[in-house]
Amino acid sequence: MSGNWWDILPREVYSGLEAVETGQPWYSVYRIHDWLYALYEDGQYDEALMYLVIGDEKAAVIDGGTGIGRLDKLVMELTDKPYFLLLTHTHNDHIGGCEDFEEIAVVDDVMSRESSSHGLGKDKMGEMLEPGAVIKPLPDEFDPDNFYAPPYKVTHWLRDGEIIDLGGRKLEVIYTPGHSSDHICLLDRDARYLFTGDIYYTGGVTSYLPGSNFDDFVESCRRLVDLMPYYDYLMSAHNEPLVDKDQMREMYEGAKGIKDGTITDYTTRRSVAVNYDIEVRRYQFSRFSLSVRADL
Ligand SMILES: [Zn+2]
Repeated sequence: MSGNWWDILPREVYSGLEAVETGQPWYSVYRIHDWLYALYEDGQYDEALMYLVIGDEKAAVIDGGTGIGRLDKLVMELTDKPYFLLLTHTHNDHIGGCEDFEEIAVVDDVMSRESSSHGLGKDKMGEMLEPGAVIKPLPDEFDPDNFYAPPYKVTHWLRDGEIIDLGGRKLEVIYTPGHSSDHICLLDRDARYLFTGDIYYTGGVTSYLPGSNFDDFVESCRRLVDLMPYYDYLMSAHNEPLVDKDQMREMYEGAKGIKDGTITDYTTRRSVAVNYDIEVRRYQFSRFSLSVRADL
């Protein structure tokens, strides 16, 4: 790939959204509805994208992001409702804010149990500060030399099919392993949004990291395609919100074609994760790529 990762910024979708100024400039904040905000880390390579979903009684913060900024302080600026952190899974770019939240919900799985009891060390969190990865000034209170994710307390272990009721706003837990074994999507049937976590985003989607399972990934995509009558837009955990739902079908058909061997056009590269140097195959589709283990 040529050029810099930030050359495509700002992504077009954001020009149609209402930007909100806050006291936490690490995050770019967009109001999608009076009850829904996109909290976007556009200054860092992963372009982590979190959502604040505000019900009548409480608010859910979907994902914690990198932890470089103070997500809890940002949330308190945007709502006076009690809030909790709702993780789609526990990779490093999703659990960064955990230490600052008193209430955390995540699906009950061996990976999320491991993540919450041990946190993640400087090597794994430091991946996100590699040279060229950050283009915005780091927040004053952030110490890059002491960046790690401490263990965190999960106050609610989620189950597949569970309904999270925020008061006049419901999120349905859809267990979708594959990218990681502890991955969920969240379906808002009333607003017709699917919060996809890392199962879908416009960018390089992976299914080869430790805890990934490509067969599970294909099956999770199939399940999400079956649910397409109930949502119109994909609200991804990276890069951009409000992606047309037809992309979910392309992801499923792409993943299935890779599994069946009918899609054969790929490039080979090494894994991007530290201490995990394996060969992976990268398949390019219209708005995303999907990378799988070469020895699948
Ligand atoms: Zn992610």
